[in-house]
Amino acid sequence: RLELVRGFAKGPLIEGVKDIIAVASGKGGVGKSTTAVNLAVALAKTCQLKVGLLDADVYGPSIPTMMKVHGKPELTKDSKMIPPENYGVQCMSIGFLVEKDAPIVWRGPMVMSALEKLMRGVAWGKLDVLVVDMPPGTGDAQLSISQRLQLSGAVIVSTPQDIALIDARRGANMFRKVEVPILGVIENMSCFKCPHCGEQSYIFGRGGARRTADEMDMEFLGEIPLEMDVRTSSDEGCPVVISSPDSAVSEAYNNVARKV
Ligand code: ADP
Repeated sequence: RLELVRGFAKGPLIEGVKDIIAVASGKGGVGKSTTAVNLAVALAKTCQLKVGLLDADVYGPSIPTMMKVHGKPELTKDSKMIPPENYGVQCMSIGFLVEKDAPIVWRGPMVMSALEKLMRGVAWGKLDVLVVDMPPGTGDAQLSISQRLQLSGAVIVSTPQDIALIDARRGANMFRKVEVPILGVIENMSCFKCPHCGEQSYIFGRGGARRTADEMDMEFLGEIPLEMDVRTSSDEGCPVVISSPDSAVSEAYNNVARKV
């Protein structure tokens, strides 16, 4: 998909970084960060790319926990932050710059200046792709990231639930307005398979994200099931594509990475 959209996007603004892709959702809690983490690791591991992961979710940074990377980053001679690496992915997060349990109660200008620091003040070196875990929604922060980073493309994450899909549409329309190509839609928590009897339950509805992708003329990139392993491995700081590489859910993430 990135090869297909090249030429439509203006091209990323960070020196040495070939492509910047946003992982976005209209709504919080749909699994955007989990998807960003597993996609970034799958792009590094399965697609053998040099990958960075930027946690721009200013109000709820979860990359430090999910990727087990902590502490204040070291600085280069010209005061740029050096992103720590884990699982083959270089990571940077607003969470590195604030105390762990401190509430992030910032007004707009402070959010913007923190984002500016994250967008400009990191020594990424040479990367094939930088994955950006966006803040949820379609406000100033999202617009500013989309425009200032000159994204190559965006991936939209949604559950199949109507209330999430309505916001996912808003997100998609925002990217269209600022002329960021949409690489496709990922349906997270698409179904739950009972570990005892094997019955499939469609807790958040069935097929909603695929339908929305069709209606809005977007690519459908795949379904990620609701699985205990995905949650526990994230909480333990070892993404499921690393902790259970041969599982069906890891294969689903790897397929999404290959499509992107
Ligand atoms: P968001 O970034 O959209 O707010 P998160 O990625 O933080 O969402 O996910 C919200 C919660 O749901 C987390 O506890 C995460 O571990 C869990 N989660 C996300 N995707 C899945 C999944 N496919 N299966 C099980 N739990 C999931």
